[in-house]
Amino acid sequence: MVEAAERSISAEAQEPDRPYEVALRPARFDDFVGQEKIRSNLRVFVEAARRRGEPVDHVLLCGPPGLGKTTLALILAEERGVHLHMTSGPAIEHKGQLAALLTKLEPNDILFIDEIHRLTPAVEENLYTAVEDFRIDVVHGDGPYAQSLQLRLHPFTLVGATTRTGLLSNPMRSRFGYPARLEYYAPDELSKIVTRSAGLLGIEITPDASQEIAARSRGTPRIANRLLRRGRDFAEVLSNGALDLETARESLDRLDVDRAGLDDMDRKYMRVIIEHYDGGPVGIETLAAALSEPRDTLEDVYEPYLLQQGFIARTARGRTATRKAFSHLGKSAPSSQRDLF
Ligand code: ADP
Repeated sequence: MVEAAERSISAEAQEPDRPYEVALRPARFDDFVGQEKIRSNLRVFVEAARRRGEPVDHVLLCGPPGLGKTTLALILAEERGVHLHMTSGPAIEHKGQLAALLTKLEPNDILFIDEIHRLTPAVEENLYTAVEDFRIDVVHGDGPYAQSLQLRLHPFTLVGATTRTGLLSNPMRSRFGYPARLEYYAPDELSKIVTRSAGLLGIEITPDASQEIAARSRGTPRIANRLLRRGRDFAEVLSNGALDLETARESLDRLDVDRAGLDDMDRKYMRVIIEHYDGGPVGIETLAAALSEPRDTLEDVYEPYLLQQGFIARTARGRTATRKAFSHLGKSAPSSQRDLF
């Protein structure tokens, strides 16, 4: 079976994506499509901070992978005219590493911590005083000769990113002046992103092909860009290089991404609820065992999009398949399910 992270429609970055991610990443607010409210608020914060000569207030970006959290951090640095220092929660193993990162920051720089919910409690606690008072305590020496030194830091901006707000501690969450939740993109926004990316990669694409790719990209720019690149491969081999609607459809069908942006694994998830558990409700642990996938993978990878699109619902007694799921799989919903939805 294909690993969750290797699916064509995985929202996680895959190795072959990386060079393209850099090339396709918008560097300015003007090129960043969608997320209107967040974008216009951040624009104001950057402008105000620049006028005052201060760092931008600390920003927390929440939302599923591939929606533009890293991109927004890069844009913040670019627009504020400062350096961006990128790291992630699991990469900062102890306080010393945090101190090394923080003391490297120049005035108003941005420190981007991806997966900030995965910081260790000790590191997290040290980060509190750093973001509040721009100082950090470091221990110098060992045993009875150990001394605690207080280091002053340049004022900086912490941009934290997390896919799981629920896992972030309350004290950490409260340190951010602006918590922003990124939403899945609408098809017309994704279509704009596909058209822009095609232009940057020199791919000839028709508007209806852009829309087709957008419609099957699960509201996620990273997936849209990947499906565009795969579409280009098919276009080069199957047609004269131009990506038209027919080629786009053919390539997406061959990649097993259906009209709703679901792949085999999504359909299997829904089929298990429908065929083995009469449409649910079924507990998450039972589902995890039936699908031989860890519970976390189900919750982080499969469910967000299926929930958002209304294919499944979360109830107190477990997951249920909605009527939309039944009809998507060409099955008729039992009467109990018809009453529910
Ligand atoms: P995240 O950090 O949330 O996982 P990224 O910021 O790495 O997501 O975005 C993944 C890719 O999607 C980027 O390389 C970028 O090209 C593209 N992307 C994301 N958001 C947008 C957007 N709003 N407009 C254009 N491209 C975007």
